[in-house]
Amino acid sequence: MSDETKLLPCPFCGGKAVVHVNEGVCVICTNCESRTINLIDGRGNGRYTGGAIKSVIEKWNRRI
Ligand SMILES: [Zn+2]
Repeated sequence: MSDETKLLPCPFCGGKAVVHVNEGVCVICTNCESRTINLIDGRGNGRYTGGAIKSVIEKWNRRI
């Protein structure tokens, strides 16, 4: 796993975090179930985008 996709432990309980996909993607703590917002991949400027997973991982890793 590269550093780009590495998930930090939960900032609240230190639990293991996973990328969860369910009509969108979010990062969720498997212990306390705190989570990021849900994002979906879409289209921008006529092109498909695939940044939703990377975005939620970045949001998770930046949480305080
Ligand atoms: Zn947690």
